[in-house]
Amino acid sequence: MAAIRALYCHIPFCRTICPFCAFAVHGNRERLHADYLRRLEREIGLAAAGNGGPSQPIESLYFGGGTPSTLTLEELEPLMAALRRNFPLSPDAEIAFECNPEDVRGPYLSGLRRLGIDRLSLGIQSFDEKTLAALGRNHNGRRSREALREVQRHGPANYNVDLMFGAPGIDPRAFAGDVAAVIDAEPPHVSLYGLDLEPGTLFARDPAVREWDGRHKQAQAEAYLDAAERLTRAGYRHYEVSNFCRPGYDGRQNRIVWDGGNYLGFGTGAHSHVDGVRRHNHRHLRAYSRSLDAGEAPEAFREALSAVQRANETLMLSLRRDTGLDTAQWERCHGIPWGEARNKTAAALAAAGKAQWAAGRLVLTARGFLVADAVTEQLMAGADEQVAV
Ligand code: SF4
Repeated sequence: MAAIRALYCHIPFCRTICPFCAFAVHGNRERLHADYLRRLEREIGLAAAGNGGPSQPIESLYFGGGTPSTLTLEELEPLMAALRRNFPLSPDAEIAFECNPEDVRGPYLSGLRRLGIDRLSLGIQSFDEKTLAALGRNHNGRRSREALREVQRHGPANYNVDLMFGAPGIDPRAFAGDVAAVIDAEPPHVSLYGLDLEPGTLFARDPAVREWDGRHKQAQAEAYLDAAERLTRAGYRHYEVSNFCRPGYDGRQNRIVWDGGNYLGFGTGAHSHVDGVRRHNHRHLRAYSRSLDAGEAPEAFREALSAVQRANETLMLSLRRDTGLDTAQWERCHGIPWGEARNKTAAALAAAGKAQWAAGRLVLTARGFLVADAVTEQLMAGADEQVAV
């Protein structure tokens, strides 16, 4: 088997479905857990058996969702055992787990640690009652604060707090209160997400939400820039568009994915990447279950990336990080000349305060991170560009 560095395990259950969520999720029905976990273990076994088993210890294991913390410790234990049995973990592997505040209690956190989980990601989103209500969250501001204290007391030292800005009907300037609260709490890692109206979600279908969102884009951008500045001043490194960390606390799973490393995803909708081949599983529980019951991998989509697609992927993933893009290395690795047109675009971005050059690397500023997708599109290689292999 190709050298797999990371595993992702998708737990699709949530206590309630948030109106902005576009992930593969199901309202929590505990009666579905046992069958889902049984099939997940079967998928893990099938993947490990493919091509003679894993060839190196796993560096990172990530439980995401959905809400992994809807699972009890008794449900998690055999899943963890199946993962370890099939994919030996390196002794210093990072094992990360997403939790929602309503599930975070001392005994549960101690149990997670006993299972080897050494990084938590806490979906707080806000400490403000009105913002949490506008986002349709299942917890209030008091629970946000309590959960954070519980994690600090009983959880691993390595944890992340998710915050969200852009809630409909809430003045984007109110986000400054959440940023101040998180700086006070001093978590080692913070992720900031702006509300995205993903097609198919309740929010995207609501004309009032769409209208509010359109009218407040500028204010949301200012809220992000203000938050980035204050977190940076408080000693956090703005190491990726949405992510800030204390030294040494960047998430390992993200780093492997952004470096273009090989990883396998298990569960509904989970994505995998192995040696330039990308695939993802069926999103729907029924199709996922049917495949596994027939003894087949639950794969819904697969594509082998072309040389130009790989070059563009490197470009996109590099520009989203504070280490930026080493343009000479990009030319060498992908056989595509950087060229004068891209230099001109980079100069225009620098003049607009959105990018800078640092030791041969093109690095976006916080203002550039705001428009990282558009910048990537401007610099991307076209299908007709000459690839010198
Ligand atoms: S808890 Fe998270 S995964 Fe579940 S519906 Fe809400 S945003 Fe989506």
